[in-house]
This record gives sequence, C-alpha cells and structure tokens, in this order.
Amino acid sequence: MVFSEPERRGRLELQGEALMAFDRDGLVTQLRSHVVGDVLADAGSRAIYSADASNYRHVPQAVILPRSSDDVVATLALCREYGAGLTMRGAGTSIAGNAIGAGVVLDTSRYLGQILAIDEGAATAVVQPGVIGGDLRDRLAPHGLSFAPDPSTLSRCTIGGMIGNNACGAHSVAWGKTSDNVRELDVLLADGTRMSLGPNTRDAFAANVSRPDRAGEVYRGLEQLVQENLEPLRTELGQFSRQLSGYALHQLLPDHHRNLARALVGSEGTCAIVLGATLDLVRPPAHRALLVLGFDDEVRAAQAVPELLGLRPLTIEGMSRAMFAGVRLHGERASIISALPQTPNWLFVETGGETPSAAEESAKDIARKLGLGQPGGSSAAVFMDPRAQRVLWGLRSDGSGLATRTVDGRAAYPGFEDAAVPPEMLAGYLREFRELLAEHGLFGISYGHFGEGCIHIRLDADLSSPGGVGDYRQFLESAADLIAAHGGSISGEHGDGQARSELLTRTYSPRMIGLFERFKGIWDPEDVLNPGILVRPRKLDANVRWLDLGTREVQAQYAYPDDEGSFRQAVSRCVGVGKCRVEQGAAMCPSYQATHDEKDSTRGRARLLFEMLEGSSISDGWRSTEVLDALDLCLSCKACKVECPVNVDMATYKSEFLFHHYRRRLRPRAHYALGRLPQWARLASLAPTLVNKVTSNPTLARLGKAAAGVDPRRELPAFAPVPLHKLARARTAQQGTPGQGTRGQVLLWPDTFTNHLSPQVGMAAMDVLEDAGFEVLLPEKRVCCGLTAISTGQLPLARRVARRSLTVLEPYLEQGVPVIGLEPSCTAMLRHDAPDLLAQALGAVRKPRRPSRPVPCPR
Ligand SMILES: Cc1cc2nc3c(=O)[nH]c(=O)nc-3n(C[C@H](O)[C@H](O)[C@H](O)COP(=O)(O)OP(=O)(O)OC[C@H]3O[C@@H](n4cnc5c(N)ncnc54)[C@H](O)[C@@H]3O)c2cc1C
Ligand code: SF4
Ligand code: SF4
Repeated sequence: MVFSEPERRGRLELQGEALMAFDRDGLVTQLRSHVVGDVLADAGSRAIYSADASNYRHVPQAVILPRSSDDVVATLALCREYGAGLTMRGAGTSIAGNAIGAGVVLDTSRYLGQILAIDEGAATAVVQPGVIGGDLRDRLAPHGLSFAPDPSTLSRCTIGGMIGNNACGAHSVAWGKTSDNVRELDVLLADGTRMSLGPNTRDAFAANVSRPDRAGEVYRGLEQLVQENLEPLRTELGQFSRQLSGYALHQLLPDHHRNLARALVGSEGTCAIVLGATLDLVRPPAHRALLVLGFDDEVRAAQAVPELLGLRPLTIEGMSRAMFAGVRLHGERASIISALPQTPNWLFVETGGETPSAAEESAKDIARKLGLGQPGGSSAAVFMDPRAQRVLWGLRSDGSGLATRTVDGRAAYPGFEDAAVPPEMLAGYLREFRELLAEHGLFGISYGHFGEGCIHIRLDADLSSPGGVGDYRQFLESAADLIAAHGGSISGEHGDGQARSELLTRTYSPRMIGLFERFKGIWDPEDVLNPGILVRPRKLDANVRWLDLGTREVQAQYAYPDDEGSFRQAVSRCVGVGKCRVEQGAAMCPSYQATHDEKDSTRGRARLLFEMLEGSSISDGWRSTEVLDALDLCLSCKACKVECPVNVDMATYKSEFLFHHYRRRLRPRAHYALGRLPQWARLASLAPTLVNKVTSNPTLARLGKAAAGVDPRRELPAFAPVPLHKLARARTAQQGTPGQGTRGQVLLWPDTFTNHLSPQVGMAAMDVLEDAGFEVLLPEKRVCCGLTAISTGQLPLARRVARRSLTVLEPYLEQGVPVIGLEPSCTAMLRHDAPDLLAQALGAVRKPRRPSRPVPCPR
C-alpha cells in the first residue's frame, strides 16, 4: 500500500496516539496464510502482550511468534501493506514502554533462540535475536569467554532486546555497553531490504555509498546526514558513556569507523529488525575481589567516583542500606551484611586478577589510595570468598525488586529510573535531584551504576488518578531539565520508550531532534517500526495502565491484607520484571518452564486478570474463558508468592477467579473429584486394598478417570493400607507416650497426601522430630487445610474445612505448640489462604503481614 503525503502524515499522527486504523481481520487472515509460526489474534493473547515492565498499556491487534527469519520478513511485508505498526519484542522486560504497541507485536523469544556459532579464536558468537543473555553466557563459560553486558534481567532478557535498548549493567565500567560488544548485525529494513552492517573503512563506505540498490540509498542518506552535521554530532552526542537517549548518530562519524551496526544499537526497534548478530566476546579475569566502601551519604559516595575510576576497577556500584529497611535478613545473608561497613551507603568495587591474591591486592590498593582506612576497618571491607561475593551481588540485583515498593509497602513506579550524568557531575546532580524530589513530595531509594553516573530510582507517585499522573508529568519535565543542566541523558540504559521520548526535546537541540527524525526516515520512511517511540513520540502521560485500570473494586473472597483488601491492587502487583520467565534454577514458574508460553507464566496470568478488571479487551469479567484457560495450568504451587520480587500470589488469585467463574454453575468433573480429594481419600481408607485393586485394573481405572475428569494418561495414586494417624496411634500404643521431650511438644500436621498416600513420610518425620528432642503430637480429630477446595475455588467448602480445623487446632495454638507441616503447599494454605478466607468472611481486618514489603530475592 502506498500513501500520499497527506495520508502518510495523518497516519503518522494517528500512530503517535497509538490509534491505528487498519483492516485487522484482513491482516490476520493474510498473516495466517503466510506465516509458519504462531499467529495469535484472540482476545487472550492480545491481552497478555498488552504491557511490558513499564507504566504503559497498548493492546496489540495480533501477536506473532515467528519460527524463522522468513516469518519475520512475511510479517513485516504484511504490516507495511496493511498500514499496521510492528513492534519487536524479546522478553518484554523494558521499563519505558519500548516493547509494546497497538499494531502487531512480534516476539522472537519463543522460537528464534539459537546460538549459531562460537569462534573461540576470534572471540565472537553468532546468535539469533531470541537467545537469552544468560544462556549465551552459560554456553561461553567453558571456553573461558563471556558476553560482557550484564543487565539484571540477564536470566531471561534476549540479545535482540539488549541490542534494542543498548543494555548495560554493573560491568560496563570495564567492558562497555551492548553497542561496544556488537561486531555485526544482520538487519531487515521496513521495506524488506536485508543488510549486513558493521564498521566501515573510508573505502568500504565509499563503495557502499555508490551501490545502486536500496542499501546504497541508505548509505547515501547517512553520508549526507553526517557531512552536513559534523559539528552537532561531535559536540552533542557521545559526550559520556551512558548518554544513551535518542539515536547514536555519532557512531556514523569517521572517528567511530562509520559503524552502522553500533548506530542502530539502542534504536528500540524503530529503524530495523535485528535478525542476527555477531557479538564480540571478552575473557573475564579468573579471580575477583569485592571491595565494599562505606559512606555517610550517597553524595559522598558519588564524590569518590572520579578518583575510583582512575584506579580502573571492574565495577563501581552504589547501594543504600535503606533498601533493606523492614526486610528480615537471616542466616548467611545477615552475617555477610553485618560484615559490611556500618554506614548508610556503600560502593561495591570489584577488581580482577589471574590469582586470588592479585585480585585482593588490587582491591586493597584501591582502599589505601582512597585513604579509606584499612580493609576490614570501619569504612572498607574486602570479600574474597566467591560465595560471599555472590550473596552481595544478589543483594545488589535485588535492588530493583525491592525498590518496586516503598518501605511501607506502597507501589513505586519507573519513569525516571535510569537517568545518567557524566560521573564527575554525579554528586552535584544527586544533591539537586533530592531537592527536586522533596519539592514534588516524591520519595524513592536510589542505587545503581555510580561508576557510569547512572542512577536507578522508582518513585512513590500516584499513577491511578488523572491529577496524580499530571503531577508526575510535571516532575518528569523538571527532572529532564535538571539532567540537561548537568549535561546528562534522560536514559542511561533502559531506552527512551514512551516514558522519555517526549522529553528528548528538553535535553537535545531542535537541530538534533530534526536529525533523529531524518535518521529514522532514512531507514523506515513510512514509520512502520515501533511508531510513537523516539521520534514523533506518544505522550508520556497517555496510555498509563494504572489509570486505565481505574479504582473500581470487586467483591473479593480473600482479605488481601498486604493490598488493603483490594483484589485490584493485588493483581496490579505484577510490575512485569519477568523473573517468572527464568527457565532453570528457579521454582517459579513450573508451568512456564514446561511450555515456554507467556500465557503459562505468572506474568501472563497477571496481565489477563488485569485486563479482565480493566474490561475492554477481556470484556466478560469473571466469566472469561481466556482467563480460565491461562489459569488452567497454574499448579497453585505458590512458588511465585515466594520468588517473585513483589510476591505476586497467583494461587490465591486463581482461587478467587475460579470461585466467581463457577459461582452457581456446574463445575468440571475434576473439581468434584480432585477438589474433594480429602473426602474421597477418607472413604477410600475404609477399604484401601479394594480401592487399589479397582484403580489398578486398566478398564476400571479408565472408566474411573473418565468419570473423575482425569486425563487417561495419568497414573492413579495407590492409597496406603494404613493411614498415618492410625500408624502413629499404633506406635504410641506399642512404645508408650514418649513424654514431653527435652525440647517440648510439636503438632505434626497430617495433610491428606501424607496421611493417606505416603504415611511413611510422616512416620520418618516423627522419627526425626523425636530424635531432635520433641514430643510429636497428632491432632485428635480430622483436620485439613482446604488446599484442594481452595485451588479449585470451592470457597464455601474451603471455609467450612478451615473453620473445623481451626477448632481442632485452637487448644494447641493457645498453648503455643508449634505446628509442623510436611507439604509446602498445605503449609502455605494454613499460613495465608485459610486465615485470609476466614478473615474476609468474618469481616475482620487482617493486619498486613510482616514484612509488608517484598522479601528479597534475586530478580
Ligand atoms: C527489574 C529490571 C531490571 C533491569 N535491569 C537492567 C540493567 O541492569 N541494565 C539494563 O541495561 N537494562 C535493564 N533492564 C531493562 C531490560 O531488562 C533490558 O534492556 C533488556 O535487555 C531488554 O531485553 P528484552 O529481551 O526484555 O527486550 P524487550 O523489552 O522485549 O525489547 C527491548 C527493545 O528492543 C526492541 N527489540 C527486541 N527485539 C528486537 C529485534 N529482534 N530487532 C529490533 N529490535 C528489537 C524492542 O522493540 C524494544 O524496543 C531491567 C529491567 C527490569 C524490569
Ligand atoms: S509475576 Fe512477579 S516475577 Fe513475574 S513478571 Fe510479575 S512481578 Fe515479575
Ligand atoms: S502458583 Fe501458578 S503461577 Fe505461581 S509459580 Fe506456581 S504455577 Fe506458576
């Protein structure tokens, strides 16, 4: 489709407001016939991709999961033909609204994740865009190599996304940003042209300029842009390492080897699509030392940075003790923290060496040169033990998870979360930034890449009312002016996205803004790629998802004590950091780890519930089959409640949803069978041998499974001949009561699974506890936590069960007898869901649990 100039202008304006009008059904039909990968255009999939980790919300018209570069080419051609914007996406962990769009979203993380080659001699790797940064590092480690940029989201973010945002991390002081580690890019232009980009000698560039094709046109456009604007490119851009706002046009200069690949790094998918990348690799030192320096305040810490930089460490990261206020740290973490300098602020300074003593000596040397006392004294400590270093770096990466909530548990938002100034300006900037926050009545804890002048902070703004959003806008404008006054950049590593593109005019000259538009026009003249970002920007106060959600409450069944009793607030907890997409080494989220489908991640489910409450993309409320479908594979394991940095508790939200969804309606057969498992187990325990005979007969088992709504491939569990409570009673009769024990009494919780299916586990636990000096009691009457009723949303039944169990437990609890559970999901129910259900039913207000803010865990 070719647009006339007025049409094109009109369309660009519309896209700027994310109100694209195109023949959606026609586009989807064509996509389905030309794309081999997944074309998702149902309401549920579109809702799931409506947000990244930013404050913004755009519901796309379709989501594509390409299986090959050909799929990407076909999608782009059709988007262009139909006039739909195309937004690229990796793991969707962008914080500024860079990875969402109202047209088509193309997610490379599902199928385009291959590491194509590793060349040890040349120290390069060739990768597809969907490769996860952490996976690449794991593959490189045996070769003694690494890909240097280390954003905190490395465990799930993709190389395509790192290139899109020019991601950095703690070690950029030593090894640079993503742009410094990219050798070549294989890109697709909006008109379907494919180009291989990298640095150019003068002769190579001249040869490219004279090419007769579209690629030559691009080179000619860039050559002209550079020649006409040498002065502003040299004086306005590339002034310090974290000046990452806008486009990196200075990379086109001869002194930067006319590097077209690096000029595109950080272009946030607005100029070209990355189909593949050749990356430069580094050889990290064999040993590291971590020097922690203590300071009375962050300004003093910032003042030390210029001198530290001269001593060439690997990192200089700023941390604040306030981040851990109100968080209970125990065990190893507590003892390591107690070994840190007893000051409110720290700088983590890492050094390297080929031997442990070389690394340690460099660290001590830095402390000596700074005159900060002897390491181990009050203002400096050196950690050589790799385990202690891991714990301390874990605390550092907890930073953004912890900072998503204020100390008293309220939400804190991004928007100005990665601004940067030249490191020598940092102290002055921080002082004035604190004053600005006070003027606007905002609070946030800052930390981050002090060695690069890049400060992370989330602020306790009010983004759920139009007035609050307006106030935040005013703050952002003033903060951008402050950054400009300090020669800084409004983004130092997360990209501009919707949050900051509009502010570029406050930090760059009108001429530079014009050059950004011209640069974009050379690559993507019809504005197909990620429209509304970087040039002709969307308004930073439009599409705020918290505002879209509104404040309307639903009648909830649980008390949600950490969210002021609000299901809406509970669901809004998910900030989108994507830790639930980590594929290994984490308990959260087993369903995503099995399917690799965003729908089956905690985040995908949270998005759907959010959209259900918002009501426009998922419009049938509690009756939604899209939400039901996404919750179907949730195991209610509660791993998210523990491992998600903001404690999203999907098991409880699922229970709430299922209750409303099936209210006064017939439920699936499995709910009656498995949801009432404790009752069936008790019945079976009357004649377990007979029941086991029946269930082990293939024909009868098949019939039984069909009647119970159980998948025919599942094995039915065998019931124990004698349940735990009877075994325990028999043992007591045989051995006599063991007496009070040297350490007092404990009550062993006989959950249904232990009691009726694996009583040997319960007996072993009794042995262990008795050996440890406890007298082990079992409840005298039947108890149950209600897990199976809760996880199927049969809440009236769950409440009855919980009340009855509470009556049985009451005398033990009154005497302070500890209750020991063996099944983690059951203990989680006892500690959280059952009390919250009862509190809500009684109209009692449950106190927020301590700690009210998230428990730290690596993000
Ligand atoms: C808690 C938290 C901590 C973070 N810490 C850091 C940090 O320490 N350092 C840091 O730099 N960032 C950090 N980030 C930001 C973000 O995680 C990184 O920028 C990350 O590299 C983005 O990768 P992604 O795969 O999630 O990309 P996405 O968010 O999916 O996309 C990022 C951008 O790249 C574009 N893009 C994606 N794929 C392609 C492609 N194939 N071709 C062209 N464009 C493409 C997208 O359109 C988008 O504009 C953090 C984010 C969170 C939520
Ligand atoms: S559920 Fe938790 S871990 Fe997953 S994206 Fe949301 S906030 Fe992050
Ligand atoms: S409770 Fe559900 S969403 Fe949470 S980790 Fe377990 S399976 Fe994932």
